[in-house]
Amino acid sequence: MTEIIFATQNANKMREVREIMSGSGFIVKSMLEAGFDFDIPENGDTFAENALIKARAVAEASGVLALADDSGIEIDFLGGEPGVYSARYMGYDTPYGVKNRRIVELMKDVPEERRGARFVCAIAAVFPDGRSIVEEASVEGIIANEPRGGSGFGYDPIFYVTEYGCTTAEMTTLQKNAISHRGKALKQMRRRLAHVLD
Ligand code: IMP
Repeated sequence: MTEIIFATQNANKMREVREIMSGSGFIVKSMLEAGFDFDIPENGDTFAENALIKARAVAEASGVLALADDSGIEIDFLGGEPGVYSARYMGYDTPYGVKNRRIVELMKDVPEERRGARFVCAIAAVFPDGRSIVEEASVEGIIANEPRGGSGFGYDPIFYVTEYGCTTAEMTTLQKNAISHRGKALKQMRRRLAHVLD
């Protein structure tokens, strides 16, 4: 079985990744499980660039196939922000409860047709020989009128998916993975890797 290191320190993301990759025939380890504990600067301008920077750093340090994701939320009313700055938006250490309430407050008079938003995710794979693959996917939603739901992480409580009538924080991990940016991008990557490694 091929071993993969997923370049993230985020336990929530790792939980989603394990679920999506289960049964794929790959052994997926987190950076910590593989014995790597270093911060990787995310100084790219796009999700794809940042995902590649992270995957390349771990592939070079480990000599093992490394995957990384970079993701975020684009809010139409904010001109597409925070985008690649999603984790740093309003300060890295500001709790998401505070960030989410501020966004909802800022948009309290904005009508539904102008509340569009999407989660975007790029997944990069970097092989030990330096080759790389990138897959990208997104999920459309609207910014909720108030935060709702206790599962997920980050901006999930304010990301309302109209077709499902709930926020992504009100979905189980399984439901969220079936429609999410990360779920779709990882499944695309899983298919690509199956071909490449065949
Ligand atoms: P990254 O670790 O640089 O990819 O940061 C992505 C940031 O975007 C996270 O810290 C969250 O703020 C936000 N984000 C990305 N994906 C999701 C998601 O599935 N739910 C909620 N927030 C997300």
